[in-house]
Amino acid sequence: VDALTRAESLIALTPDYPEPGVLFRDVSPLLADGPALRAVIEELIRPFEGTYDIVAGIEARGFLLAGYAAALGGVGMLQIRKAGKLPRPAAAVSYELEYGTATIEAPGVLREGERVLLLDDVLATGGTLAAAQSLVTELGAVVAGSAVVLELTDLGGRAVVGDVHTVFTA
Ligand code: 5GP
Repeated sequence: VDALTRAESLIALTPDYPEPGVLFRDVSPLLADGPALRAVIEELIRPFEGTYDIVAGIEARGFLLAGYAAALGGVGMLQIRKAGKLPRPAAAVSYELEYGTATIEAPGVLREGERVLLLDDVLATGGTLAAAQSLVTELGAVVAGSAVVLELTDLGGRAVVGDVHTVFTA
């Protein structure tokens, strides 16, 4: 089998995490496999070649994807972090969770109009990625595109985030 097919098989289905009734997709085995990880990153950024200036990773697994993608593309990285982690956040966006709200923040490192490629591991309800898109816009930059390793189609995230490139769907 090719590396991408094998990569998909390395996403571990984890029942009842982080709470009963949730089937969590654990990408740890995929991240740990060199050829599988390379194939996934190459496919993740493939449609966007030449269209972005910087890669943004959403905490925490998105950081790993963004680091690899930035190194491959010779571009820099933007941290999109959970609230309270950055010494000098330049913007913050809050969004709804199933219970309560969450907030993400980013540092003030983007140039006006800089083209940002957003990366994360899993698209579920889309709240996190949509908030990240708003955050980039609020910082005066432009969303060049959004890409995730795995889209959970039943949760309807695509309708919330608009155009998103996905390597795998489940
Ligand atoms: P959403 O905001 O789309 O509902 O959830 C997406 C965010 O939660 C992403 O940052 C993603 O890392 C995390 N997430 C939600 N469900 C899963 C899952 O099943 N597996 C993994 N690895 N992350 C998930």
